Amino acid sequence: MHVISVGRDILGINRELARKNREVFDKNRVLAVNIMGAIGSGKTSLIEVLCKELREYKIAALAGDVISDVDANRLKKLGIPVQGVNTGKECHLDAHLVGHAIRKIQLEDIDILFIENVGNLICPVDFELGTQRDITIVSVTEGDDTVEKHPMIFLNSDALIINKIDIADSVNASVDKMERDALRINSKLRVFKISLKKGTGVPEVVEWIKRSRDEI
Ligand code: MG
Repeated sequence: MHVISVGRDILGINRELARKNREVFDKNRVLAVNIMGAIGSGKTSLIEVLCKELREYKIAALAGDVISDVDANRLKKLGIPVQGVNTGKECHLDAHLVGHAIRKIQLEDIDILFIENVGNLICPVDFELGTQRDITIVSVTEGDDTVEKHPMIFLNSDALIINKIDIADSVNASVDKMERDALRINSKLRVFKISLKKGTGVPEVVEWIKRSRDEI
């Protein structure tokens, strides 16, 4: 029983810290985007592509990872400010870690902050970060039942990006089923069907990010 009450406290504290992060983002007029998704779904690639397509904006990134700095180093090659955030044993970022990391970025000079969460569809669900937008990206290679198997993350997302649609037939995945499952879970989800490799569907995502930035 104690475990349950401690768990509640942790989530309550996280929610309060997330609220503070949001104040910092809003005060600096930074659009913060939490990017969640499994390993190999295309989180880092999405940030790389969006940085190239959103050149007129000043962009920074946080790269969450259990222990490595592989993604952080990949993103540094884009020439943007990047902070790696190691979570140790934890399989998600939390508002406390993000709150510390953003102190090392000159947010007053930034328009958009991309936050790459740790690679899985389960742990990040309970830990809001204070971001104004939350995206979940899935790849058709995860199987077209991956959406229905992870309903909670789609309840807490604003957008679903289905990636690698160019190889859906080769891996026997129905993109339409993934979209249907997602909208059944959360009818307000914005769904994008894209191929980061081919560039298919990317302009729609770019437009959505621009509009989101205008709305804050
Ligand atoms: Mg990555």
